[in-house]
Amino acid sequence: KEYLASEQRYEKMEYRRCGKSGILLPLLSLGLWHNFGDRDDQKTARAILRSAFDNGITHFDLANNYGPPYGSAEVNFGKIFKEDFAKYRDELLISTKAGWDMWPGPYGNFGSRKYLISSLDQSLKRMGLDYVDIFYHHRPDPDTPLEETMGALDQIVRQGKALYVGVSQYSPEDTLRAANILKELGTPFLIHQPRYNMLDRWVEDGLLNTLEQIGIGSIVFSPLEQGILTSKYLDGIPANSRAAIEGGYLDSSGITPSLIKKVKQLNEIANSRNQSLAQMAVAWLLKDKRITSVLVGVSNVAQLEDNLKAIRNISFSSDELEEIEKVLVS
Ligand code: NDP
Repeated sequence: KEYLASEQRYEKMEYRRCGKSGILLPLLSLGLWHNFGDRDDQKTARAILRSAFDNGITHFDLANNYGPPYGSAEVNFGKIFKEDFAKYRDELLISTKAGWDMWPGPYGNFGSRKYLISSLDQSLKRMGLDYVDIFYHHRPDPDTPLEETMGALDQIVRQGKALYVGVSQYSPEDTLRAANILKELGTPFLIHQPRYNMLDRWVEDGLLNTLEQIGIGSIVFSPLEQGILTSKYLDGIPANSRAAIEGGYLDSSGITPSLIKKVKQLNEIANSRNQSLAQMAVAWLLKDKRITSVLVGVSNVAQLEDNLKAIRNISFSSDELEEIEKVLVS
């Protein structure tokens, strides 16, 4: 049956300006790293995308190597896009990236002009798109001159294959250097995509200030520490969880009793705020206006609905923040 998006979709979501740009991002965005590969159920994948858009999530984030296998998330997204979302193309911000290993040999990894330009061409084909809204360099490459990598991003925009560019996991220093190069080239540097959650707070040590200074936004990934910052692991490792799946990137040996003790304490604070832990973890990130959007992953629609409720309460009393801080530094 033909998909028609909910007419209320824009009443359900709030949007924040991405740095000093013309773009607004939804408080929550959807990432397709997991759950959209060939081994995943495509009915669920489709239901997640529909539910996201019905709830005002206008931004879908991909990368060349999402799957598994590499490339399959873009192919599967492309099929769903064609059937359900093509008519909404101008209401959507779609991003992809290159920077991690993608194909064998010296030209399918890191940050060369050769890799970035050919990888985006492949991504556009897989997704069936003429352009992406944001193209990212996926990680810093210490061996390629930043001028070359930024020059490739500039060329991609001039070719009309991306409207804006971004970087992921760049240090504050490299971000500043990248911004200077891109400014000189006249390339629209929209956004930084760093890892940030209650258990991984490196961005607080300079990056967020740097982004504010440059005037670019941020979209933070793994906000739930891949599911650890939810109630899912409180009583062990469920069979269908990311930690139980082979090659899932979440190592179950890292889910230690001392970590779970912390998570239980956080869960209690969340409950005292009438939130699930997932909701509090998202809200805790959004309390900082420098965070433009929180990029969640979900393996089903119920998780998405849970996370979306975070935006009902993103303010914290100083007592609550202090209580959380005590747990986090313990
Ligand atoms: P999260 O921290 O949001 O983890 C998502 C996982 O947490 C889900 O797949 C699910 O795991 C579990 N989960 C989510 N919501 C709930 C809930 N309400 N209750 C219980 N469990 C829940 O983010 P990701 O690590 O998936 O990253 C999000 C996105 O960020 C990616 O899709 C990608 O777009 C981007 N990203 C970018 C990177 C980069 O280098 N730039 C690197 C990594 C991610 P389960 O499968 O166990 O149900």
